[in-house]
Amino acid sequence: MEDTIELEECPICRGAGMLMHEGGWSVQVECVDCSAHTVYVEYEDDDEKREAERAVAHLWNIGKVISSERGE
Ligand SMILES: [Zn+2]
Repeated sequence: MEDTIELEECPICRGAGMLMHEGGWSVQVECVDCSAHTVYVEYEDDDEKREAERAVAHLWNIGKVISSERGE
């Protein structure tokens, strides 16, 4: 199965990205080092969950992340 979701290094600090599920209905990728993160993508069932994971992984891998550091 082509099911493995590959995450690149953090586009901000080169740390490790992790899939983080929130409340069983949404997922984002977050950096374990600098807390940069993608937007949350919501899902309602297992199919959507997989698509949501792919979606946030894609955002992460192309560098569409939000840095939680505010300025400076
Ligand atoms: Zn980072």
